[in-house]
Amino acid sequence: MRTHDVVVVGAGLAGMRAAIAAHEAGVDVALVTKLHPVRSHSGAAQGGINAALGNETEDSTDNHTFDTVKGADYIGDQDAIEILCQRAPLEIYQLEHWGAVFSRQEDSGKIAQRPFGGAGFPRTCYAADLTGLVILHTLYTVCVKYDIPTYEEWFVTDLVTDDDGNAVGVVAYDMIHGTIETIGAKAVVMATGGAGRVYRPSTNAHASTGDAMGMALRKGVPLKDMEFMQFHPTTLAANGVLVTEGARGEGGYLLNKDGDRFMTKYAPNKLELASRDVVSRAEATEIMEGRGIDGCVMLDLRHLGRDRIMERLPQIRELAIAFAGTDPIVEPIPIRPGAHYHMGGVHVDNWGAAPHMPGLFAAGECSCVSVHGANRLGGNSLLEAVVFGARAGEASAAYVQEHSAAPKVPSNAAAETQARIENLLARDKGIRQSEIRDELADVMQEKVGVYRSGPVLGEAKRTVTELRERFQSVVVDDKGKTFNTDLIHTLETGFLLDLADCMVTGAIARTESRGAHSRTDFTERDDENWMKHTLSYLDDGEVRLDYSEVAMTKYEPQVRSY
Ligand SMILES: Cc1cc2nc3c(=O)[nH]c(=O)nc-3n(C[C@H](O)[C@H](O)[C@H](O)COP(=O)(O)OP(=O)(O)OC[C@H]3O[C@@H](n4cnc5c(N)ncnc54)[C@H](O)[C@@H]3O)c2cc1C
Repeated sequence: MRTHDVVVVGAGLAGMRAAIAAHEAGVDVALVTKLHPVRSHSGAAQGGINAALGNETEDSTDNHTFDTVKGADYIGDQDAIEILCQRAPLEIYQLEHWGAVFSRQEDSGKIAQRPFGGAGFPRTCYAADLTGLVILHTLYTVCVKYDIPTYEEWFVTDLVTDDDGNAVGVVAYDMIHGTIETIGAKAVVMATGGAGRVYRPSTNAHASTGDAMGMALRKGVPLKDMEFMQFHPTTLAANGVLVTEGARGEGGYLLNKDGDRFMTKYAPNKLELASRDVVSRAEATEIMEGRGIDGCVMLDLRHLGRDRIMERLPQIRELAIAFAGTDPIVEPIPIRPGAHYHMGGVHVDNWGAAPHMPGLFAAGECSCVSVHGANRLGGNSLLEAVVFGARAGEASAAYVQEHSAAPKVPSNAAAETQARIENLLARDKGIRQSEIRDELADVMQEKVGVYRSGPVLGEAKRTVTELRERFQSVVVDDKGKTFNTDLIHTLETGFLLDLADCMVTGAIARTESRGAHSRTDFTERDDENWMKHTLSYLDDGEVRLDYSEVAMTKYEPQVRSY
């Protein structure tokens, strides 16, 4: 068995930032990742990363904090949001010193900042429309420089605990050799990214299947605020590919079929740069009321001109040409709201530590601190990944320094995983995972979307329950040992089903409208009864809900308008 002081699962922004922080704190840390690190979904992030540098106009961390609290529709934890915004400039400069090439102001040479949705000031630092890719590669070079051991293309299947319920390592399936391996550790940091693939279409990579959430849930660790799934206002109809908010930040308009700039009606002050939940609802309403075109509205960039589009949004132009057959220099792009970002995740504190399991930490999109509450602001998630990635890395190192005894990894840690996989491979009749996955994603899209209602959510719950039952007889056709993606997708589908159940169950219970959770049968925010986080547990396969308090510092809830 291999052992390390800290094992970090996931090598996107959050995982690599955590590993770098733990390494710098002097502990032996390793990364385990099902993808090569630079294939992580962070690399698809386009628009940018927020920090109140004040390079374009005056700005402050207080402004950033307030915008985030308001964007979250007041159930983000205000102490955590203060930490996020205060550390933001330091992390940007740190990334820059490590070599991240941000776009610059022409005259001063300072880091340029673009306006983004829900933000009172231009605060989003960017590298053209390839920000995530630039930061991901930067962190990878630091990991290589530090020689951090990395188990690439190892799919982590389970979290390992000792007899006292402490996290002491993980079990992983080595995808190249088809073997099952145990890695012991004094602390485990989960950083496996989002669960956007519960839906289709989705802006998320195929690998964004919420694995850490599923593993934690099965070990009794609660997930927080699972009902809040963000729909991004501008995704391409053909395949859900994202068109960055930066397109509206640069001045793009949204038009309906009559050529009206409809956001004047829904958000008269911020228009297209209102918060994402507000813009997505406006688009959905226009489309439902018959003012869309083929289920879409139009994103018009023509007035920005060729030069600006080519300089600031080159990737968006390529994507629009490839997947919508539209060159935004000459015609508007048809777009619609699409599943994009999951606000919920493994319940952790402001250091990324899971209060229900000593030794377990989580960071990035798989975690819920919570800084995004009911609705995340664009540009705050790359930021969360680096800030709370770093903090989880630091905290896990400190934990290891306090708990220096060797981890008590049970000798049969991998046996249950081994048996589960052997059983799966032995079955030669049954339903294929792809059928279940597609049906699940369709029902979530149709019934747990931008607008929700009790009866329709009830139908979704019944389908999800039935799909979980049918999954008991799933068959893996590929019996091979090398790169058995059929097997990997089956394990992922198991996680997706559990997470979908938490999302639907939490959404049924929350009888109010807040942020991304918008109920047509309970249209108002209800602070008296619902100013609280949802916690989901899995008891004998059934989702059970509990609630926890929202941390308030100095921001009183207000009516949220843009
Ligand atoms: C198209 C797109 C554009 C975006 N644009 C922006 C933007 O401009 N600004 C912004 O702030 N946010 C943006 N976001 C959101 C942001 O990119 C993500 O929330 C963030 O990058 C998540 O980082 P992460 O490190 O948590 O996860 P990821 O980058 O998704 O990394 C997950 C890692 O976990 C590993 N992993 C997963 N499961 C397992 C397993 N079972 N075993 C082993 N390893 C595993 C993967 O291999 C991968 O290395 C965007 C998201 C998308 C989808």
